[in-house]
Amino acid sequence: MLQENNTTRANLLTRLTHQHVWDVLVIGGGATGLGVALDAVSRGYKTLLVEQSDFAKGTSSRSTKLVHGGVRYLAQGDVLLVREASVERGLLTRNAPHLVKNQTFIIPIYNYWDRLKYTIGLKLYDWISGKLTLGASLFISRKKTIESIPGIKTDGLLGGVLYHDGQFDDSRLAINLAQTILKNGGHAINYMKVVSLLKGDNQKIDGAVIQDEESGKKYHIKTKAVVNATGVFVDAILQMDNPSGKKTICVSQGVHIVLDKTFYPSEHALMIPETSDGRVLFAVPWHNKVVVGTTDTLVDEASLEPKALEIEISFILETASSYFIRKPQRSDVLSVFTGLRPLAAPTEGQPKTKEISRSHKIIVSPSNLFTILGGKWTTYRKMGEDMVNSIEKKLHWPHKKTTTASMHIYGYVDKVNWDDPLYFYGSDGIKIRERMNGTANEWISESLKIHKLQVKWAVEHEMARTVEDVLSRRTRALLLNARESIRIAPEVANIMSTGLNKDEQWVKQQVEEYTRLANNYILN
Ligand SMILES: Cc1cc2nc3c(=O)[nH]c(=O)nc-3n(C[C@H](O)[C@H](O)[C@H](O)COP(=O)(O)OP(=O)(O)OC[C@H]3O[C@@H](n4cnc5c(N)ncnc54)[C@H](O)[C@@H]3O)c2cc1C
Repeated sequence: MLQENNTTRANLLTRLTHQHVWDVLVIGGGATGLGVALDAVSRGYKTLLVEQSDFAKGTSSRSTKLVHGGVRYLAQGDVLLVREASVERGLLTRNAPHLVKNQTFIIPIYNYWDRLKYTIGLKLYDWISGKLTLGASLFISRKKTIESIPGIKTDGLLGGVLYHDGQFDDSRLAINLAQTILKNGGHAINYMKVVSLLKGDNQKIDGAVIQDEESGKKYHIKTKAVVNATGVFVDAILQMDNPSGKKTICVSQGVHIVLDKTFYPSEHALMIPETSDGRVLFAVPWHNKVVVGTTDTLVDEASLEPKALEIEISFILETASSYFIRKPQRSDVLSVFTGLRPLAAPTEGQPKTKEISRSHKIIVSPSNLFTILGGKWTTYRKMGEDMVNSIEKKLHWPHKKTTTASMHIYGYVDKVNWDDPLYFYGSDGIKIRERMNGTANEWISESLKIHKLQVKWAVEHEMARTVEDVLSRRTRALLLNARESIRIAPEVANIMSTGLNKDEQWVKQQVEEYTRLANNYILN
């Protein structure tokens, strides 16, 4: 069991120095890094994961919130990828039932060709998932479609194709994965950045210098293997290894807007398979709101706080408006958030960027730096397994079996009450509720159902260090209603300051920093 005080920063830092040589150092605390670290821990390797900011600060808190086989990839004929993702979807639903919902999706159908194409296509999708299917797809009548998605454009509507996929809370899963790593004897620490790599006489990597981003203190870590799981930042680490190395990726961004559920008052998600720019657009019910997205726009550089472009926001609003009867305006947007995906950089003779397959890619450098990129949240477990297999093979370690396919993720419960506002805490929900005793109505935000004890809990048990950690990734206030999150930031900072032993100056600075950041999630 994870000890009560195991996650205090002082304890996490002490453990860092106690280990003489680690087996695996993982750089990056997003889906990929967490998946690799958990796999290594499950095989008994001494594993350390470091994240320069907070867990899931990057793309892993900015996804469309789907645990999916990928209907889009089926349309592209990538059956193997869909099979892999469907299996992983099934495993994640089993291992983290408190975070992954079985979600029905409806594709509205406006012509006979689409009816045939999507009815047959989704039967194939069901079949590919085999025993791990979440439910059978079916064609539903026009009447049933209108009843199921009130507000849907009815002009020319023939009916809909209903199918099942998973829907989840991405950053909560990341925090629970970090807790699972700690619970199983591994080590994961946020606000700890790799600033350089160390090499032995044979020019092979044998360690790294990591910097505590809070105190500035540097630690020299010895390790047998280093994994670069830094998402769109992979090139920065590759260049630490080989400064003359070429750029391997370009970056494209995907924007989502969040609306009140009155714009889309349905428990079914909406899937628009072909938008005017040839992409897929989803409207997904999430924490009592609806997330609509996404886009695909090439940007100049990777950043931890990418910003949505006007053209992307207009595109989403216009596309949603052509399907919703109640047409959302800019002023209706509760929050706008942006995630970054890596694209393969152009090479000589191939002047254009191209999409890195959603199947992941592993690169082993001559120095034995192990880099992993691509993939998706849904397949994080398999990516971890493949990476640790590669390390064993390359470094001639005897093969050990992973146990992640059946490993329960921290918070696992047998039964979930989705109507409980604290459902996403899983097994911790009972403990939080016990502490709430007598204060159950003391919400900091009544509309977002955020209680002051959740803030305390995040500091004491979930490694939250800043107001943003609490409002963006322990609760999802920033993404659900950015204005409301700014309103409650001072109270959150005050509660945190007691737990973290901080002064008034810290509170003031945190509120200022948070407000500045959250303003970027608001459309003026
Ligand atoms: C718009 C969009 C929507 C998506 N929707 C879905 C979806 O619905 N379902 C799905 O399955 N997948 C989805 N994906 C894909 C999925 O979100 C990504 O594949 C996944 O989050 C990538 O995780 P990652 O760990 O590779 O990268 P990241 O989450 O970006 O993590 C990399 C981490 O490395 C850290 N880092 C960088 N440099 C250092 C350093 N020097 N030291 C320490 N740490 C460092 C960063 O701070 C960052 O936190 C989506 C992707 C996008 C872009």
